[in-house]
Amino acid sequence: AGPRPWTGPFAPPVRPLDVLGVPGQINLDYAATAPCARAAADAVTELLPWYASVHRGAGELSKRCTLAYERARRSVAGFLGARPGDEVIFTRNTTDALNLLAHALPATTTVVTFASEHHANLLPWPAGAVRLPVPASPGAAVRALDAALRELRRGTDPVRPVLVAVTGAGNVTGERWPVAELARVAHRHGARIAVDAAQLAPHAPVDIATLGVDHVAVSGHKLYAPFGAGALVGRGDWLDAAPPYLAGGGASAYVGPATHQVRWASGPARHEAGTPNLLGAVALGAVCAALGDADRDELHDREQALLARLRAGLAAVPGVEELRVFDAAAPRVGIVSFVVAGRDSAVVAAELATAGIGVRDGLFCAHPLTRRLIAEAAARRGWRNPPATALRASIGLGSTTEHVDRLLAALGRR
Ligand code: PMP
Repeated sequence: AGPRPWTGPFAPPVRPLDVLGVPGQINLDYAATAPCARAAADAVTELLPWYASVHRGAGELSKRCTLAYERARRSVAGFLGARPGDEVIFTRNTTDALNLLAHALPATTTVVTFASEHHANLLPWPAGAVRLPVPASPGAAVRALDAALRELRRGTDPVRPVLVAVTGAGNVTGERWPVAELARVAHRHGARIAVDAAQLAPHAPVDIATLGVDHVAVSGHKLYAPFGAGALVGRGDWLDAAPPYLAGGGASAYVGPATHQVRWASGPARHEAGTPNLLGAVALGAVCAALGDADRDELHDREQALLARLRAGLAAVPGVEELRVFDAAAPRVGIVSFVVAGRDSAVVAAELATAGIGVRDGLFCAHPLTRRLIAEAAARRGWRNPPATALRASIGLGSTTEHVDRLLAALGRR
């Protein structure tokens, strides 16, 4: 084991899924970026003395780094239930992963999304993408997709590719989407499905094989690893047929003297040009391994109990109204967005910050959805002047009942 740098204000955690933090600071903003898990910190610390180039050097250090990088790739594949032949391409984050997929779409592909998606799953898609209205329930989402794909297929060339791109769990409400059912519908119509698992993967198992999905995107920094590494995992055929995402060293298998003389690599290397983010990938791989070894049911039950406490507590604070797409009982991960009657969300967030509580305020990179949900929440309560933005509290591995209760107490104090 390497040195243990976590002294001073950092509590020294002892289990792989313990997270680092600063005493006195309550982080209820896991949905934006989760704190670093012990597993990630240890993996990085242990590799630091071996720090050297990946896939490029012949020295012992480089060989070790290359092994660590490829082991991280296998760990991510295992964590996400990748099938034999699926590819894991390291990216910077989910946004980068979905942009990579958009870049690799066959020319005539139509992409179908819902209007409730995060901007990362709305904006990368080519012109002509179909944006289905926000559905009222998970069942309505499945039916709407079925109808839209039937319509899309009518009269068009049946081999024209269609990609359905949906979130696994929404970043505004934490509500879970019926991914397996949507995948079945997509495949029945000969379409593919990509899942934005940025919010789902930190909270619940995402198994590509079981869900029957084609592509999955995740962000390391929401999965208890530091910033800068994410992944696109799944079928590789479109990716292998596309030009490299970035042109350069590593993506090229052969380069001749003339400008056109280049043969691109296949597999992950094709889209990972340039020196890779070794430490980011290794940290992500380490957390994937630790989460894979953990009792996910136990983690889920613990989080759901905290979430229930948070939601019930918020409902009891006068003037607080939760945002939701589906009904209040729909399954969700540890995320709640809300508005407070007559209060500017940015001011409330700033007040919470002075009490040492970190939440997020804003429209959460899902502007069309959040604006709509704020208006709906205000209409339910009969408010005439809804706030322009919302607040979001999100929990995860390091969250405790004390954190939740401190938030509730601070909100109830005004
Ligand atoms: N999709 C969802 C559902 C998200 O919550 C986020 C992050 N807020 C993203 C995509 C984008 O993730 P990143 O910023 O790590 O690229």
